[in-house]
Amino acid sequence: MTAARRFAVIGDPVSHSLSPVMHNGWFKDYGLNAEYEALLLRSDDPVAAIRALKGYAGVNVTVPHKEAAAKAADRSAAEVANVLRWEADGTLSAYNTDGAGFIAALDEAAPHWRGHVKHALIVGAGGAALGIAQALSSDVARVTFINRTQSKAEALAETLPGADAAAWSDLARAFSEADLIVQCTTLGMTGQATHGWPVEACKPDAIISDIVYRPLKTDLLRAAKARGLTTMDGLGMLIHQGALAFELWFGIRPDAARARERLIQALNA
Ligand code: NAP
Repeated sequence: MTAARRFAVIGDPVSHSLSPVMHNGWFKDYGLNAEYEALLLRSDDPVAAIRALKGYAGVNVTVPHKEAAAKAADRSAAEVANVLRWEADGTLSAYNTDGAGFIAALDEAAPHWRGHVKHALIVGAGGAALGIAQALSSDVARVTFINRTQSKAEALAETLPGADAAAWSDLARAFSEADLIVQCTTLGMTGQATHGWPVEACKPDAIISDIVYRPLKTDLLRAAKARGLTTMDGLGMLIHQGALAFELWFGIRPDAARARERLIQALNA
């Protein structure tokens, strides 16, 4: 019997990752001789450490190694990569499926969004905020970044045509103007600070997305649901970025609904 093909998610920290549950589940669904693990990568030279992972057929990359992953690759489709694939000739290819994963999740949660969303508010100015804003920018006339550290929001806005930045003290006004709000900070995550989101200011037909998935029902999503707004939780993006990675490795688009069932079970365990 041939050895199983090896896959991993690399990051620091990484033990909390749900990617092993998701990918090992799909390996079983599709009868693939492969195994997937969470691999802590801590190194002074992450680019070299990533290039040394030659025993793997592919890896997902999480914080803080996404930039190093793009640099480590022989060819990269993005400056910040979350998927790596070793080719038959030993070279390394890098991709980013985060933005497309977010859009696929939004298509599922709010199928009407394309005609409806003219103005998107991105809360946060980290890696996830940028990837999502870039993915939205071709379909949305205006993107506004709002972030605790305003200079970071301004810096991101400068990189995208049609984007601007708002002050954190103007959160309620920014909420009142947006058709889509995407919460991309760590606020509301288990063990992190919470925030009193001004959901009462939202338009009645606003779509509210929170990419935090621990907990799955964040305070923001609870408040938005209570107001009857369309909501999208953080699992959709996680699953669809993973499904796109799986497709890059195996040429199969896996079953997102089965992954969702397994991940909800894992989150409740
Ligand atoms: P990051 O680059 O470290 O950015 C963190 C962001 O959170 C920054 O905008 C930061 O603002 C803000 N923040 C942190 N503490 C804050 C506080 N007390 N008050 C206000 N803002 C605060 O992280 P990231 O990679 O973009 O990830 C952000 C979140 O998205 C994490 O919760 C992560 O788990 C989640 N995520 C989910 C998915 C998914 O598939 N669902 C994918 C990627 C990320 P400052 O600039 O002011 O520090």
